[in-house]
Amino acid sequence: MTSLPEQKSVAASAMTQPAAATGTPALPPAAALNDALRDARPADVIAAALRTVGRDRLALVSSFGTESAALLKVMADVDPAIPVIFLDTGWLFEETLAYRDTLIAALGLTDVRSIQPSEDVLKREDPDRDLWFSDPDACCRIRKVEPLVRALQPFDAWINGRKRFQGGLRADIPFVEDDGARLKFNPFANASRADIEAIYASAKLPPHPLVASGFLSVGCMPCTSRAQAGEDARAGRWRDRAKTECGIHTMKTS
Ligand code: SF4
Repeated sequence: MTSLPEQKSVAASAMTQPAAATGTPALPPAAALNDALRDARPADVIAAALRTVGRDRLALVSSFGTESAALLKVMADVDPAIPVIFLDTGWLFEETLAYRDTLIAALGLTDVRSIQPSEDVLKREDPDRDLWFSDPDACCRIRKVEPLVRALQPFDAWINGRKRFQGGLRADIPFVEDDGARLKFNPFANASRADIEAIYASAKLPPHPLVASGFLSVGCMPCTSRAQAGEDARAGRWRDRAKTECGIHTMKTS
């Protein structure tokens, strides 16, 4: 990952858009920001997101999973008060909840918001808590997608930790995407696994507690299994299903 300082001025100029009819400043085109940031460091991408919409309109979405501490560390170095949205689906491992609290303390995060699904929707659509088996797409919709859409309403842009090296639908992600009414920043788009590991090592970040017992990627309990030797890290997610994404990155949030 290399920084191209001269590109920041392009990003900055892309931010000075005329005000929209509503009085809310118009967002710059995602493509222009992406062109300006395509070789920037992750911290530069987060700083550009901050300059573009301001802290009150920017959120980072984290699963507090096995690689999450790297992005949270980079964010905390830029501004630890950026709101962090954590989707507490009701099916998370206790270790993940504990890891959230560990990282809040270790990184000095000041605005982590744990978002839960609607109780009414759960009672109506998943009364027996078996939707993850019968219809995992519907389960992800009510436990992740819909809560995220609600949680993002106050924000004009969000940051997430996807990387191209994760493959599949993530293999070609840009640094900045159009997400409907808001922008989506992917600071680690071009990061390698070694880059992520280097951040953990240099900052002495604690690993997710389940890594020690063989989990390379951690989501909800019913849909997470250990990756076997030689498997991709995300192979343990929704094992034996065609599903590879929960949906929050395959639809627009507005
Ligand atoms: S990952 Fe599994 S348990 Fe979690 S919301 Fe999706 S289907 Fe449901």
